[in-house]
Amino acid sequence: MPYLTHPAELAQLFPGEAPYRSQQLYHWLYRRPTLSAASMTDLPPGMRKALTDRLWPFVVEVEQIADKGSTVKWLFRAPDGAAIEAVLMGYPGRTTLCISSQVGCALACSFCATGQFGFERHLQAGEIVAQVAYAGAYLREVGLSIGPDHLTNIVFMGMGEPLANYDRVRESIRRIVDDMEMSPRRLTVSTVGLVPGMQRLTEEPWQLNLAVSLHAADDELRNTLVPINRRYPLAEVEAAAAAYFGRKGRRVSIEWTLIDNVNDTIEQATKLASIAGRLGAHVNVIPLNPTPLSTDQPSRTAQIRAFVRHLRSLDINATIRDTRGSDIDAACGQLRAGRAASS
Ligand code: SF4
Repeated sequence: MPYLTHPAELAQLFPGEAPYRSQQLYHWLYRRPTLSAASMTDLPPGMRKALTDRLWPFVVEVEQIADKGSTVKWLFRAPDGAAIEAVLMGYPGRTTLCISSQVGCALACSFCATGQFGFERHLQAGEIVAQVAYAGAYLREVGLSIGPDHLTNIVFMGMGEPLANYDRVRESIRRIVDDMEMSPRRLTVSTVGLVPGMQRLTEEPWQLNLAVSLHAADDELRNTLVPINRRYPLAEVEAAAAAYFGRKGRRVSIEWTLIDNVNDTIEQATKLASIAGRLGAHVNVIPLNPTPLSTDQPSRTAQIRAFVRHLRSLDINATIRDTRGSDIDAACGQLRAGRAASS
């Protein structure tokens, strides 16, 4: 499968073809992806036919469109049965693709649909890149009701913890930047706070955006919501985020899933403001998407507003993230969770 092959080794897939054929294939895979090999018009019919069956390292099992055509969510299925989710969202002037880096997740955050199903396996670099290529081809050939016909932003916020799959995620970023020619400033890596991975990312050559999923502003509460906090407590996560900001000059963002009566108190907002203030971080507040295996509920609208108002009163930039695709289970792991619950 071409995306599972290193871009420099594509010639191995078609040993009988002239060397320039692999250059043509490279162009179609990375510079101008198409949904179907039939559109790769300068390749010989035999190559196109062979690619038709194995162009993508997955099949599209579910495609759901929501928000009046401005959101599409895919559940891709790999040959080994692994479920890979990606969500594409269009806005005026930009498109954002949310991609997965693992199948399942071992970190078991209490409110997360992906975490509730445990860890299955890491995604390969090519499986991550193929999500980007597929969305790019979709935008060009089908399109959303809003936004440009190409990807402008990619966020590693789908299923899995990207920094727990560091080397493959790193290689996928390298391909997105070097082969697909996207600016690293358009890429955001989200982490729940894997400090060694944050430190490695700080040493990388790219000006990536870093988003830290905090969800709680003291260790006592965070230990219950984000169990990995016991290994990498808040102070260490904050220090690693500060080091990233210091090295890259890229403002770190803090992600905060608001859960009713759990982390939506004014006391938590005050503590969060202290951390965000020290980091100069922007806070994205996301109302919880309820999951099948948890009784946690999203905060009520009045509480969400009060939480954000309090942050702003303490001079913190805070945004309530729109819950795109809530009618299609668009939070990470939810499409898969929904299918498991109904099967
Ligand atoms: S929130 Fe992220 S790190 Fe936590 S279980 Fe879900 S996918 Fe894993």
